[in-house]
Amino acid sequence: MKTIENIEFGQLAAQFGTPLYVYSENELTQAYARYQTAFVALNPLICYAVKANSNLSIIRHFARLGSGFDTVSGGEIARVLAAGGSADKIIFSGVGKSEVEIEFALNAGIKCFNVESLPELDRINAVAQRLGKTAPVSLRINPDVDAKTHPYISTGLKANKFGIAMADAEQAYRHAGSLHHLRIVGIDCHIGSQLMDLSPLIEACERLLQLTDRLAGQGIVLEHIDLGGGIGIAYQNEQSPDLAAYAAAVQTLLAGRPQSLVLEPGRSLVGNAGTLLTRVEYVKRGEEKNFVIVDAAMNDLMRPALYQAYHNIENAETSERQPVFLADIVGPICETGDFLARDRMISAQAGDLLLVRSAGAYASSMASNYNTRGRAAEVLVSGDKVRLIRPRETWEDVFASEKSVLA
Ligand SMILES: *Cc1c(COP(=O)(O)O)cnc(C)c1O
Repeated sequence: MKTIENIEFGQLAAQFGTPLYVYSENELTQAYARYQTAFVALNPLICYAVKANSNLSIIRHFARLGSGFDTVSGGEIARVLAAGGSADKIIFSGVGKSEVEIEFALNAGIKCFNVESLPELDRINAVAQRLGKTAPVSLRINPDVDAKTHPYISTGLKANKFGIAMADAEQAYRHAGSLHHLRIVGIDCHIGSQLMDLSPLIEACERLLQLTDRLAGQGIVLEHIDLGGGIGIAYQNEQSPDLAAYAAAVQTLLAGRPQSLVLEPGRSLVGNAGTLLTRVEYVKRGEEKNFVIVDAAMNDLMRPALYQAYHNIENAETSERQPVFLADIVGPICETGDFLARDRMISAQAGDLLLVRSAGAYASSMASNYNTRGRAAEVLVSGDKVRLIRPRETWEDVFASEKSVLA
């Protein structure tokens, strides 16, 4: 039986049931350390992008390592605070910040708002004025570079909803400078996710620095440059980008500048630390297709249905067992889109445990209750220690807050 750290997957399934998200604490620590090591000369503030996996224990682990946090909602800020993250390392991104969220963030005392539009600047200024505060702001610039990733996770093109267009940026900074309850502290971008090529990231950095220079010429001096996240991970056997090469390129570009560096990695800190453990319910052999029907579904792991994402799936037994056959690996949900993998060679019999790999990012955080399925349990493994970090939702949990009113 395969293991995670010192624990066999079979033991976890017996103790906690399936489907089960399992995370390696050691992998989380190492992923964070890889950033620290690569960027050591720049001493960046690494702000873990909470939406990749927002479990309180995962956040707490990164907080302990000294991480800051990139958040995209008031709820995420509340989570970070509840998990012991410090407010002065929280960045608040996103195109649709509400007044309630802005007020909450200002009262909490976050590090910075990453602002995505002119009306958002006005709104933040108005809320800050009402509260008698000054809001630290950075402008998210859309550098118009092609991240060459899946269109749903590409964010740095002119056609995307994110950020302020490069052509409007100086005017936006001047406008920000005219608002008395804002303090301009930085510039940021985030051009997409699961980037396997460094060149768009480096090009985006160059464009941000050119803009930074033009702003300095107008007397607008920034404290930090935030390059966002987006570094891809290996889902199959592809080569993920070389962090050291990225860091070296950024170091060259930032040399001699007064600004500090901020990074917002999400997927690359958690993606390969997680495995979704699922049990085979039935094997259904057909004339045209075979189906391995498992107890995890698109409500647990939405990425294959949403982005045609690929996850390695293997039998949890170490010895490759026979027969190996071609099949779709699907869940019990009543949707044709409910698949975890298509056309895979797999060895699977009813009762077997399968491992869905690279399920640490955009997996449990995207889970839903569709088909009134309780969300999966989650455990964090460290050496031979296992801690339950989210109990399995019961059916009753799923509808507990609903009301059954009379017509
Ligand atoms: C999602 C997101 C990130 C993290 O992206 P990854 O691809 O997971 O590294 C960083 N910054 C912002 C603004 C985001 O929306």
